[in-house]
Amino acid sequence: VVLVGNLIGEDHINYVLMYNMLTGIRIGFSRCQAKVKRPLTDEDFTAKHKFSFDIVGNELTPSAKYDFKFKDYAPWVFRELREDYFHLDPADYLLSLTAKYILSELGSPGKSGSFFYFSRDYRFIIKTIHHSEHKFLLSILKDYHQHVKNNPHTLLSRFYGLHRVKLPRGRKIHFVIMNNLFPPHRDIHETFDLKGSTVGREYPEAKAETNPRAVLKDLNWINRGKMLELGPEKRALLTEQLRRDAEFLRKISVMDYSLLIGIHKMERGNRDNVRRNTLKVFSPDIPMTRRATVVAKGGTSPEAIAIRRAMRESNPERLGHGRRTLRLPEEDTGDRRDFLFYQDEGGLRATDEANDPLDNIYYLGVIDILTPYTGKKKLEHFWKGLSADRHKISPVEPGEYSERFLAFMKAIMRGGGGGERFKAE
Ligand code: ATP
Ligand code: CA
Ligand code: CA
Repeated sequence: VVLVGNLIGEDHINYVLMYNMLTGIRIGFSRCQAKVKRPLTDEDFTAKHKFSFDIVGNELTPSAKYDFKFKDYAPWVFRELREDYFHLDPADYLLSLTAKYILSELGSPGKSGSFFYFSRDYRFIIKTIHHSEHKFLLSILKDYHQHVKNNPHTLLSRFYGLHRVKLPRGRKIHFVIMNNLFPPHRDIHETFDLKGSTVGREYPEAKAETNPRAVLKDLNWINRGKMLELGPEKRALLTEQLRRDAEFLRKISVMDYSLLIGIHKMERGNRDNVRRNTLKVFSPDIPMTRRATVVAKGGTSPEAIAIRRAMRESNPERLGHGRRTLRLPEEDTGDRRDFLFYQDEGGLRATDEANDPLDNIYYLGVIDILTPYTGKKKLEHFWKGLSADRHKISPVEPGEYSERFLAFMKAIMRGGGGGERFKAE
């Protein structure tokens, strides 16, 4: 599998940030997880747990390599989301993110300036977000929780945690942890980020030829004459879930989101791959906390089990220091089978009208769902609307956005109908 991103070694400019994020996640997680699960209360939605790390350490926080502050937002809510609705195994989650301090940095693919990091096994994405997005997520957390609870197969981004790192000179970095829609075991041959807007939504085709990882847009989809090939059942299910998700986004006044689609062509397989499944990385071992060691000895809580496994995995004697090989799974790990749209090898297999399988597997979901229609976006609507069709530009009010989004998604499904509206100009 072709890996995207650059591994963050100790000489990387964001190594300290990564170290602090992962240390905070690890300790915050363990603190919450050490307690017995209980039903959520209203206070849980506004709770903030603060940690202050330094080189010395204390009862609550183990010593760390750097001085920094960490905040864990609504940890009980995210715990319930992870375990009850997103079916994540707690030990797995902790280990994927922190058993080794390895992340790879994708950099900042969008216009927003957010940075993206992948966990070492490629299952999770850490996205740094703007303070306004952070505040917004907290303000809708209850609605989001309710929506996810009522919609076990939602296609919306799965938020697993919301955190903040504060560096000594005052820089605050907010970030979310979410699902990587794309699987570690399958190459993605084409990627589309679709909004239903057709103004300026094109990645230059000439550049796309030489860049297999290009994120293509609405006009590329239309001009290439593509269709989502899904049989009647899958088509109906996908349309209905998208309708519910878009309806939710309209209710919370969000716009500018996309349907991200990664396409894996079975026939082509993973063969374009040069560095198949292996990657050289630098893996420092993690100091485990004194308290964690105590908890881990003989405990049967998920935390104790997780920590024991983490310690086994990060055993410096076994690992040694220096260059190591990072392996990605070659097969579906099966952790997404519970979900309708992620049931075929972590994605959705294309089917014909008789529901027989076709060549493609789609990996899809609705991403970038934290932009409410506020003053800034209204202004953008005004300016962009001067030189282009007001109804085809990206920033439109949430009702119009969701309606156009759904119409577009129906139009791109084979047999979905209604394509006339989205002809390329
Ligand atoms: P902007 O606001 O300018 O659109 P952004 O920084 O908010 O950008 P996103 O739109 O969230 O970024 O994502 C940018 C790109 O990163 C997407 O087009 C996609 O290629 C990749 N990406 C984002 N989220 C995921 C995810 N959950 N799984 C896989 N890839 C993702
Ligand atoms: Ca986006
Ligand atoms: Ca964004």
